[in-house]
Amino acid sequence: MDLDSLTSEIPFVGPSYEKKLDKLGIKTVDDLLRHVPHRFLDFSQSYPIGSSRVGDTLTLKGEITFIKNQYTRSGRKMQIGGLKDKTGEINLIWFNQPFLVRVLFPGDQIAVAGKIDWFGRGKALLSPEFEKIEPKKTALHTGRLVPVYSETAGLSSKWLRSRMKYCFDKVKPSLTDYLPNNLIEEQNLISLKKAFQFVHFPESSKEAAKGKERLAFDELLFLQLNSLERKLAWQKNEVNRHYLVDSKKVKAFIDKLPFSLTLSQKKAIDEIAADLKKKIPMNRLLEGDVGSGKTIVSAIGVYLSHLNGYQSVYMAPTQILAQQHFETLSKLFKPYGLKVLLVTSETKKVDIKKADLFIGTHALLFKEIPYDKVGYVVIDEQHRFGVEQRNKLIRLTGSKTLAPHILTMTATPIPRTIALSFYGDLDLSVLTEMPKGRIPIKTIVVTKQKRASAYDWIKTTIKKEKVQVFVVCPLIEESDKETLLNVKSVLKEFANLKQEFSGFRLGLLHGRLSIKDKNAVLAKFKKGSLDILVATPVVEVGIDIPNASIMLIEGAERFGLSQLHQLRGRVGRGKKKSYCLLFPELKSDKVSARLSAMERGLSGFELSELDLKLRGPGEIFGLRQHGFPELKIASWLDIVLIKKAKEVAGVVLGNAAKYPALLAFYRLRHISQN
Ligand code: ADP
Ligand code: MG
Repeated sequence: MDLDSLTSEIPFVGPSYEKKLDKLGIKTVDDLLRHVPHRFLDFSQSYPIGSSRVGDTLTLKGEITFIKNQYTRSGRKMQIGGLKDKTGEINLIWFNQPFLVRVLFPGDQIAVAGKIDWFGRGKALLSPEFEKIEPKKTALHTGRLVPVYSETAGLSSKWLRSRMKYCFDKVKPSLTDYLPNNLIEEQNLISLKKAFQFVHFPESSKEAAKGKERLAFDELLFLQLNSLERKLAWQKNEVNRHYLVDSKKVKAFIDKLPFSLTLSQKKAIDEIAADLKKKIPMNRLLEGDVGSGKTIVSAIGVYLSHLNGYQSVYMAPTQILAQQHFETLSKLFKPYGLKVLLVTSETKKVDIKKADLFIGTHALLFKEIPYDKVGYVVIDEQHRFGVEQRNKLIRLTGSKTLAPHILTMTATPIPRTIALSFYGDLDLSVLTEMPKGRIPIKTIVVTKQKRASAYDWIKTTIKKEKVQVFVVCPLIEESDKETLLNVKSVLKEFANLKQEFSGFRLGLLHGRLSIKDKNAVLAKFKKGSLDILVATPVVEVGIDIPNASIMLIEGAERFGLSQLHQLRGRVGRGKKKSYCLLFPELKSDKVSARLSAMERGLSGFELSELDLKLRGPGEIFGLRQHGFPELKIASWLDIVLIKKAKEVAGVVLGNAAKYPALLAFYRLRHISQN
């Protein structure tokens, strides 16, 4: 047996256990040994029964005096036994484990571990861990720091402990480390063998932490190797078009805008212009809150492409966003004579003509489009596209080794540590400030008791101020596509609100409407012939309706903070004071503490960092399924270790010949998906 052995080779792992292990992501012995405990029970203290007291957590050793099943008053089956040593006797109590009477017998020498509590009139060990004392066998479940693993139905920590022990003993003699010694020392880590030992069989919590650190480092290192490899692979590309950047014309273009750019917009534009001059195609991520002005930054590339006689492609995840970009960019480029074409699934073949700028949805990947001279590609809300779609667009617009410049954009504020690892292959431009003159959105968490008065306030405000209102329904299921449950929930809410707001004009928007119906509703809302738009959470993040100034979010606690922030960003785009009302379904201190962060005027980045701390990375995107890796051992909060791993990945790939064992190990397990 070695680290690569499949779990089916482990004794007592048949097809059923194999499946259960697979559920935990464990396919090999190596995976198993990297399944680290999330905590330890400290059963390392052990003393005679006579000196033990109520409240002690400890291990006791002795002889079983009796054991039997018994019913509690509530009808539950309980197992009661006795344990004695030279100094005294104590009761052992378990619940619902009738098989124990077939495992433990009077006269057995056993060790038990747990907490001593009162039971009836005497003291007892409640639900203790136990194991028979046998010569030559090391204790696993008692007398030490006992690991507790995250479990799945039918896989207990007890079972895992015994399999860990078996596997570790088997692989230990031949276990070699793929990290060279000098690197281990330089980085103040420990060997792999020691790490497995310390993590599963620690003598102190310090040891356990040291072991975990090494395994966490490895996890991050593999992630960093992966993104660095993607970066190096990308850098093997050459640009398919060569650009000249005429800074005077760029300046004139910017001077004509009806506003002056923010500092970070200027910086991002400079970064893009510098990239366009290079021989290696740009691969840049432009990150900025909703409303921070990404469109105009991305438009510079379109303008420069036009000046150089090249085409640009602009891909957005939804029809409505594509339409919106089409309107904005057509207007922007009208004075410069660019031909702009909108391509969606509904665009007819005959209408697809040559253009300077193609804007569209996924349809850009499937329709026959005259991509003759594309030099620049923008992908908006990049996380809503798969790697495959992105690659396809690059293939369609470039050639085998020649690629266009790529700018991807996201309104998701990605915490720095995550950007460092997961997006390590991309260069980053960040819009850190909002355009001047934005009035901050007032956010209020509304309790159940205040719902009625909130509704009244909305009614008067619509009448008095002629504003429009978004109502977003709770997120019932997370998915790319609109789920039936989300639609059901929005239909129900829509019916309720039609009664509550009788006399007002309400519209309904969800992802299962036809594109025609969606557009019709949005057009009506945009025109001002609807007062309230009731929508599901998945629809149209980037939508721009300046007159909408109230955002009401139902089931607010179901969203991550950064997701709430994005939804909120749909208001506050006009001149009117805007409001965001958060209606939680549940009332708990945790919910109110989390949601109250929304009232504090934090930036998207601050909220996403907070999300990361409070709920883990899955919630930041609110969109777990977008290929975002959950860390199993390491933490996204551990910036020191993340930086260390990044640095080492650079050293390793910079001199690959020196690290054959490491790279072989990495390749076997982390076959790059790109
Ligand atoms: P997002 O980053 O969400 O894509 P947009 O590019 O749609 O944001 O910009 C939002 C609005 O802000 C648009 O109406 C845009 O014209 C405007 N805008 C962009 N930059 C500035 C600026 N520097 N000053 C004022 N308004 C700006
Ligand atoms: Mg946008």
